[in-house]
Amino acid sequence: MYFATDLLAAWGLNLEYGVAGVLNFGYIACVAVGAYAYGVLTLPSPAVNGNYQHYVLGLHLEPAAAFVIVIVVGCVFGGLVGLVGRHRLRPDYQAIMLLVVAAVALAVSEADTALVNGNPGLTLLPNPLGTTGPTAGNGWVYVGILLAICFAGYFVLRRFSDGPLGRSLRAVRDDSDAALAIGKDVVGLRMLAQVVGGGFGALAGGLLAAFIGAWAPSAWSFSETLSLLTAVIVGGVASNYGVVAGVILVPVVLQQLSQFVPGLNTRPQLAADIGWMVTSALTIFFIWFRPTGIVPDRRPRYGVGRHRRVWSYAPEPANMVVDVPVHPPVSRATSPMNADSGVSQASLDAGAILTATSFALPRRPGVPAPTPSFAGPLLEVSDVVVRFGGVRAVDGVSLQVPAGAVTGLIGPNGAGKSTLVNALTGFLRPESGRISFNGQEISDQPAHRRARAGLVRSFQLSRQFSRLSVIENLLVGRQSHPAESALGIALGLRYWKQAEVENVDRAWELLRAFDLHAKANMTASSLSGGERRMVELMRALMTEPKMLVLDEPLAGLSPAWARRFEEALMQLRSSGIGFFLIEHELGIIERQCQEVVMMARGRVLSVGTMEELRMQPEVQAAYVMG
Ligand code: ADP
Ligand code: MG
Repeated sequence: MYFATDLLAAWGLNLEYGVAGVLNFGYIACVAVGAYAYGVLTLPSPAVNGNYQHYVLGLHLEPAAAFVIVIVVGCVFGGLVGLVGRHRLRPDYQAIMLLVVAAVALAVSEADTALVNGNPGLTLLPNPLGTTGPTAGNGWVYVGILLAICFAGYFVLRRFSDGPLGRSLRAVRDDSDAALAIGKDVVGLRMLAQVVGGGFGALAGGLLAAFIGAWAPSAWSFSETLSLLTAVIVGGVASNYGVVAGVILVPVVLQQLSQFVPGLNTRPQLAADIGWMVTSALTIFFIWFRPTGIVPDRRPRYGVGRHRRVWSYAPEPANMVVDVPVHPPVSRATSPMNADSGVSQASLDAGAILTATSFALPRRPGVPAPTPSFAGPLLEVSDVVVRFGGVRAVDGVSLQVPAGAVTGLIGPNGAGKSTLVNALTGFLRPESGRISFNGQEISDQPAHRRARAGLVRSFQLSRQFSRLSVIENLLVGRQSHPAESALGIALGLRYWKQAEVENVDRAWELLRAFDLHAKANMTASSLSGGERRMVELMRALMTEPKMLVLDEPLAGLSPAWARRFEEALMQLRSSGIGFFLIEHELGIIERQCQEVVMMARGRVLSVGTMEELRMQPEVQAAYVMG
């Protein structure tokens, strides 16, 4: 009985914390809300029992009907708690806020008002199996029903925790800024996890209270959340199967069975204390030595081995390894780019592979190449000011970036380039100024809307979804995936399979074009710095952007990787995408950009070709002094 109710609750918490990364320290409040809701929905009005206990409602509903309402109440409560996340709090502060929410809820329930009968709590809750008939109050029948509910619950849960939706939730968990940058509605996705998690928690609470026949504030102290959280961590963060193992081990064996150990069975307090000590030691052990838990969250593998995934693209296995395009190495003399000193022949060859493998940017069928839908600059910035305290990091910048070209932005360190990028892409709110993109005013839009409109950025320090595989890092870039819509959740695989097949095909095409297909199924955290840059670029391309804003993409890259990146950029110039290339390194700017904007101390100093800029004394001065 405890296994089934704890499992439902732990699955809900796992969806919030393990999958979506919301560390809900107040999760037990969802369970309690479900339990209380079951009570006040099924109990008759207080007067019927001679006002023996005081509570609201007392609707005397049928238990089955009450459970439906309990789930809805849990979802609503989970969503209300999720509102705490609306202000893009740092995750640690958010965890504290959620703890506070639970503490407030506990205090409210304890208060001696006629809400849920204060400290003594609710008793005499009707048993769902009734008091008459062959199954009346039969515990084993109830256990059977609970296990059936768990089974059904798993299939509901999977719709959220697996597939493309689960992938997006994990992306939000791994790096919420990187997820925003590719158009993920971070707040909405977290909210969804908390709504569904709240429903699971409330159902667990309702089922528990219905069985016990009572519910009181002492039943849902903070330690109950900790017990569930330990089950998730020990079992396997984000792994639904792992949580089953974790629930058996932690709340069932360690917390309940310890009461039955000979010698301890007469001393319940000691049994509970020892249970907690072992639980705590186990948590520390797993966090140190096996952070992925007993059953780690296994990511789907695509196109290798026995691909059980029906939608996985299957390249011929031999090709995977052998099909490295062999092209005559481009000699220094004939290379389109003048090799700068210090570049080895090997790195030149690495670059040459990309040059020779001319590729068309894979597009979704029916999605045309980006063409600006109006004549004029794609991105238009006027008079943007960003201030940090007394520092005007961006001090009235106006500039225009055209479509289908590479426009450079240079300037010494601290000139305000990254701050400008943040303001353009919605990661920072400028104090004043207007930004319009593709003819639309976007100054007030949140970051993910701007990305969806086609304005996609990269970060000065490359970011990735480190616990997803390389190919998943790309797949998550697909915009408005049908699997993430309400219909997709309701109808499941058959509704979104085709879109996912196309998505996987496009990701493979990009991986092959960038010569990273051999690493498709490796975790992103195992990549080198150069590979991470490439993955970031490919992920941005998967969103089918109109403009890419690249913040110092060459920073920290080896010469070989810098060359590969530049070759990729050259290939992409013909794709119709506009590039706004922020670089400290002037070589690539000189080779790739027709027009260059020069910034210093938050202002635009000059605009022109690199050649023109070099001639201007104030530019020279800024660069030398910077
Ligand atoms: P760049 O990218 O051109 O090197 P930045 O945009 O990172 O320059 O920084 C511009 C100025 O704004 C610098 O003086 C920097 O110290 C300041 N700055 C940047 N971010 C912050 C922040 N979050 N808080 C306070 N000052 C900041
Ligand atoms: Mg910068």
